[in-house]
Amino acid sequence: MNSTTTTPTVLVTGGTGYLATRVLADLLATGAAVRTTVRSLDREDEVRAAVRRAGVDDGGLSFAAASLTEDDGWAAALAGIEDVYHTASPMIQTADRDEVLIPARDGALRVLRAARDVGARRVVLTSSFAAVGYSPKPVRDYDETDWTDPQTPGLPAYPLSKAVAERAAWDFVEREGDGLELVALNPTWIAGPTLTASARSSLAVFTGMLDGTMTAVPRQRFGIADIRDVAAAHLSAMATPGAAGKRYLLLADGPTMTFLDVANTLRAELGSFASRVPTAEVPGDEPTPLVIHNERAKQELGFRPRPAVETIVETAESLRDLALVAAEA
Ligand code: NAP
Repeated sequence: MNSTTTTPTVLVTGGTGYLATRVLADLLATGAAVRTTVRSLDREDEVRAAVRRAGVDDGGLSFAAASLTEDDGWAAALAGIEDVYHTASPMIQTADRDEVLIPARDGALRVLRAARDVGARRVVLTSSFAAVGYSPKPVRDYDETDWTDPQTPGLPAYPLSKAVAERAAWDFVEREGDGLELVALNPTWIAGPTLTASARSSLAVFTGMLDGTMTAVPRQRFGIADIRDVAAAHLSAMATPGAAGKRYLLLADGPTMTFLDVANTLRAELGSFASRVPTAEVPGDEPTPLVIHNERAKQELGFRPRPAVETIVETAESLRDLALVAAEA
């Protein structure tokens, strides 16, 4: 096992995650010493393997154990830290709101409080478009001034958790942050090659389409953000002085898309590997037009998103290369 003698000043929470492994790899590639939190230190080898999959030396990586739902471990995780990337938050579908809401909100507050207590400089919080655009508007055109209203009737647990957690984070830094800087990043649906040994989080939709278990795609319109571009935006959000106090939507240029567009792209570009991808949408109404703006991130963070088609194709190639899609029976 590699170890580092340099004390890290950078922390990434939730090191096992789809996004966090990419952020860790990008940080380690700069030569930084980085600490990451995991719920259990048993996950260390898995995270090291993920980072190495990016071709990066994991020697600068170290680990601390902390859970979003417990106080234990956060003070030690934050010791000596200046820059915090708070990516950890439950990315699960559940009818039990508290299962997602409590770790998302209370976890963000635990991280911010511990960051404030050690005099950290800045927290980059991974929020989501789910905290921006999940309340109805007459015209679905969203920028960073929009907020998902937690009181929206029928709001699912995940967008509720992201809206409440981001709001709580801004309120905390305003009222008791003692100068701690906060930047929120609000990616839309994230896709792109994974470094993890399983298809986590948003990648489940891809595996469902590619292995044929999803027989018809949901009728939904959304933005797509490449994991590599989102990770790069995290580093840029940490390094850009004027980003403090702001939130940034992150997604590819061009029109928003539907799952049928994703399915059609997979079929058109991936040959027999995409032969089980559904050709039908579940019955229902056509999703209304949706516009999501990424100009602020482009102007202020140097965000240069790659084309969505590239993201979709390379997601599937990554799942194929890592054997994460079940072979045809
Ligand atoms: P992911 O792979 O499921 O990662 C989530 C991370 O949060 C994992 O490290 C997970 O740890 C950790 N976590 C969950 N509950 C926890 C708890 N109670 N205590 C400690 N850690 C906990 O999902 P992801 O896509 O990388 O998501 C990362 C961030 O991006 C999240 O904040 C998510 O809301 C945001 N985001 C994702 C998308 C997307 O489409 N993927 C879009 C917009 C925003 P375990 O491995 O132990 O479960």
